[in-house]
Amino acid sequence: MAKTYSNKINKIRSFALALIFVGFIIMYGGIFFKESPIVMLIFISLGMLALMFSMVVYFLIGMLSTKAVVVNCPNCEKPTKILGRVDMCMYCREPLTLDPNLEGKEFDENYNKKSSTTQNKA
Ligand SMILES: [Zn+2]
Repeated sequence: MAKTYSNKINKIRSFALALIFVGFIIMYGGIFFKESPIVMLIFISLGMLALMFSMVVYFLIGMLSTKAVVVNCPNCEKPTKILGRVDMCMYCREPLTLDPNLEGKEFDENYNKKSSTTQNKA
């Protein structure tokens, strides 16, 4: 359990969600500077910027999702999206690859670890 991998789309999505929270927190911080409208304005515009950036990230996720390949996970049999050549299942974090050449390479160690743990579960 030293390394935890997650699905790329899920990872980007949680990053965008975190940005929204950060944006709101920054804007909320502006309330404490009611006396100086300029500082408050800076806080609010920074918060807006974070919110806009998160929207851009969400837009990118949408773009990436169209490129992602939907496959049925061999482990949990749910449809999941693969981004890039190697990715994880969104639900059970089973390592999945689209490139058969990669199966024995880059992902070798993790694949062995994960498959042994999932075998124990099942
Ligand atoms: Zn799965």
